[in-house]
Amino acid sequence: MIKRVYKFGGASVKDADAVRNLKKILENEDRSDLMLVISAMGKTTNGIEKALKNFRDNDGHLPIGALQELMEYHEKIMLELFDEDTQHPVFETVTNLFLDLYLSLQETGYDYDYQYDQTISFGEMLSTTIISAYLNDNGIKNRLLDARDYIITDHDFRAANVDFDESRLRIEKLQREHDGTLYIVQGFIGASTKPVVTTTLGREGSDYTGAIFANLLDANELSVWKDVDGVRNADPKRFPKTEKIPHLSYSEATELTFYGASVLHPKTTKPLQNKNIPLKVRCFLDASLEPTVIDGSDEFISYVPSFIVKDNQMLVTIRPRDFSFMNEQNLGVLFAMLNELNIHANMIQTSALDLSICIDEDERKLRQLIASLEQSFIIRYNAGLQLFTIRHYENGIEKEFVKDKRVFVEQRSRSTLQLVIS
Ligand code: ASP
Ligand code: MG
Repeated sequence: MIKRVYKFGGASVKDADAVRNLKKILENEDRSDLMLVISAMGKTTNGIEKALKNFRDNDGHLPIGALQELMEYHEKIMLELFDEDTQHPVFETVTNLFLDLYLSLQETGYDYDYQYDQTISFGEMLSTTIISAYLNDNGIKNRLLDARDYIITDHDFRAANVDFDESRLRIEKLQREHDGTLYIVQGFIGASTKPVVTTTLGREGSDYTGAIFANLLDANELSVWKDVDGVRNADPKRFPKTEKIPHLSYSEATELTFYGASVLHPKTTKPLQNKNIPLKVRCFLDASLEPTVIDGSDEFISYVPSFIVKDNQMLVTIRPRDFSFMNEQNLGVLFAMLNELNIHANMIQTSALDLSICIDEDERKLRQLIASLEQSFIIRYNAGLQLFTIRHYENGIEKEFVKDKRVFVEQRSRSTLQLVIS
C-alpha cells in the first residue's frame, strides 16, 4: 500500500547536484509505501512560457532562443547525471520530448490557454523522465507513471478542475495493484477525457497534485520538500528576520496561502483536510530538520504575525453607468462575469456606487473583462500594485512597511490587515 506521498518542487531538482541529493534522501527512506510527485526542473516552466510567447509573437516561425536554452539546460544536467554517456536511452527519450515540444510550440493557431497546457506540461515530462532513469540506474528502483492517466480534469485549461470521481477510480486501482514499487509521477498536469487532452492545475500546482494523490490513496502523510526549513511567518527572500512556524492548522495554512504565501499552493489543504492527512513542509537541504506540520488540531496553536506580499496586482473599480447602487443585483452580475472569465478577486471592497477588486495583473483578462462589462459599467484601474497582508497583526505593525507607499485600499478584520499599496 502506498501510505506516503513526497512532493519535490522545481528547486529540489534544479541541477545534477540537486537530483543526487534527492537520491540521498530516498536512500534513507523505506520506499515500499512511498510515491513521488515531481515538478519541472528549476525555472523550466517559466522558460517554456517564454518560448511560447516567442512562438506566438512570431506566428510560429523559428524564434527558438528560449527553447534552445531549455534544451541546453536539460542536456547539461543529463550529461552530469549519466556520466556523459549519450548512448544512454534517456537521451533519445528526452530528444523526442523536445521534438514534440517544438511541434507543439508551432501550433500557434490554437487558443492560447489550450496551447499553453499542451506545451507547458513538457517541463514535468522532462524532469520525471530524467529523474526516474537516473534513480533506476543508481539503486532506487522505480516506475514512471503518466499523471494524465490519473489526474482527470475538465477542459478549463491553465486552471483545470479535478474530477475526483474519475480520478478516484484510477488511483484506487493503482493502489490495489501496488506491489511495493516506488512510483514517480508528474505534478501540475492532468488530462481531460472526451477528448483526451493535457490540462494543468494552475502555476505551482504540483503541491495540489500531491494532495490529490494523498487523498485518493488514503495516505498517512504528504511531505512537501522545500529549500526552507518549513513555513515561516514571512518570505525569507523578502524579509530580513523571519520565524519558523512549527505547527499550523489546515485553516490557518489555507488563509496564509490564499493571501499569497508562496510556500504552498492554496488548493493543497482541502484534499488533506477532508481526509485528515497531515502535511509536512520539509527541507531538502537538511532532511534532519523538524518540519512544519499542518493538521487538524486548531487548539493550542498560537500564531506570530505573518507578512505576505503579493506583487503584480491591479485594483479595478467598477461603477454602474446609470448611477445605480452597487447593490446585490449588480454584484451578482459582476461576480458571475468574474467567475466566467476565471478572474479571481484577491480582495473585495464595495461602496454605494463602486465595486473595487484587487486581482493579479493579466492584460488579456482585463481586456476581456472590460469588453464584457463596458456597456453597463465604467471600469477604471491602477496597475503595478502590491497586496500586503498581515495575519494576526498588532496595531501599528504595518507602519514600517508602508511608510513611503501610497495606500489605495485598507481593510481590517479582527485577525487580518490588508493593504493595497503602490
Ligand atoms: N512547474 C509548475 C510551475 O512552476 C508546477 C509547480 O512547480 O508546482 O508552476
Ligand atoms: Mg514550483
